[in-house]
Amino acid sequence: MVLSFSHNTPQYDNDLAELVQGFFPCIVLGEGNFLKMESQLKEKEIRIEMTSDVFENFKKCWWFEIPEDCDLLERKRLEKRYMKIALYRTLSYLSQTNLPYGCLTGVRPTKLYVELGEKAGEMFRNDFSVSEKKAQLVEKIILVQSPLRNTNDEYDVFINIPFCPSRCAYCSFVSVSIDKQKQILKPYIECLIREIKSQKELIKFKLMKIRSVYIGGGTPTSLPIDLLKLLLNECDFGQREFTVEAGRPDTINRRVVSVLKKAKVTRVSVNPQSFHDKTLKIIGRHHTVEDIFKAFKLVRRKFDVNMDLIAMLPNETLEDFKFSLDTAIKLNPENITVHTLYLKRGSELKVAGYRDTDIETAKEMVDYAQEKLIEKGFMPYYMYRQKYTTGNLENVGFAKVGKECLYNIDIMEEDTSILAMGAGAIAKKYTREINLIERFAHCKEPADYVSRFEEMKEKNLNFWKKEK
Ligand code: SF4
Repeated sequence: MVLSFSHNTPQYDNDLAELVQGFFPCIVLGEGNFLKMESQLKEKEIRIEMTSDVFENFKKCWWFEIPEDCDLLERKRLEKRYMKIALYRTLSYLSQTNLPYGCLTGVRPTKLYVELGEKAGEMFRNDFSVSEKKAQLVEKIILVQSPLRNTNDEYDVFINIPFCPSRCAYCSFVSVSIDKQKQILKPYIECLIREIKSQKELIKFKLMKIRSVYIGGGTPTSLPIDLLKLLLNECDFGQREFTVEAGRPDTINRRVVSVLKKAKVTRVSVNPQSFHDKTLKIIGRHHTVEDIFKAFKLVRRKFDVNMDLIAMLPNETLEDFKFSLDTAIKLNPENITVHTLYLKRGSELKVAGYRDTDIETAKEMVDYAQEKLIEKGFMPYYMYRQKYTTGNLENVGFAKVGKECLYNIDIMEEDTSILAMGAGAIAKKYTREINLIERFAHCKEPADYVSRFEEMKEKNLNFWKKEK
């Protein structure tokens, strides 16, 4: 029998389904034989009733007060919040377990904490049932990043290179294998440079001050060296931080390093994900552990270096992960980012039916990483969560003091306007006074970006020309 969950508020499908699957990964949205949730939003209260066919005679009712002076938007916000609280408490009771982030489902726990103001600590722990350990992690990150927040309304720039040497088995980005896209590379970079030039004029006209430039994707260093050089020559926006996501160790060589250095890049990523050859093969990486060491040696002391690792990669044990983390620490880069495996829809692993439900091991990996990194002087400085991550856990960036990446903080805390260029890049205009974010998204496919270039360039310009 397929076990299912139902509720009468389709607008909250995603959040509620995510919570249910955090406890019971096999339960799908449907008739509600496992759990049926009915909510009624009245003038002064919300009433939520839960029933189940599976648990005999199970019935639970929840009431929450809604303050009288709430406007419609606030009532809706509270409705969603209380439904998540009621669902979480019911599921926790039925399963006799807790989730580390309680009923929180959003991407940005630190942003939410700051928005909640003085009562945040109490609400995280008591209302949302966030564990003490995770509440403290969120508070530590907010403390570390507070002197680094963008308080002067400076801007960031994001440039997208959606090409990689091959696609990782857990990825579904619109990042296409570079070998299959050779024809499009030159026109893509030519268009991108034209868009950069037009955005530079806008920056000059609007007297925008740029704080950080981030070239990501994808793997920008997988571009042929002449194109990479052409692109980087255009990337001086007067920024104080300049990151290139080199990502794949097999794309880093002496020529690439010299081009990055000449362009005054300050920070690069060399992302091992794992220090085990068997895992690298499984996740579709075409390089070895030895290649990671070689790449790291080339960039060490020339740039600040970030290394990404992933907990819960296929077939890895706790010991395997500990080994990878310890190896990264020994190399002593400036940043280490620890992700928990998240299988994107359409990724090779997901399509093949891979599912990791070993929540306890996931927790042990993440706990080990956090304790060990802090002990070795790496402080957590930004975080985000993704839906359906193993164990409902998080991704955390750690940095040596003074080596935090401003762009990572800005993008996660959503308090900075970001100019964006290239296929799939999303420009964000932030209006501080009313805490509003407006977006302009470029078309995703590189070939569409080239064929619709004039339209994209104009739309991007017009998006910024409209007054904030
Ligand atoms: S390097 Fe990143 S963007 Fe490229 S395929 Fe792997 S996960 Fe996806």
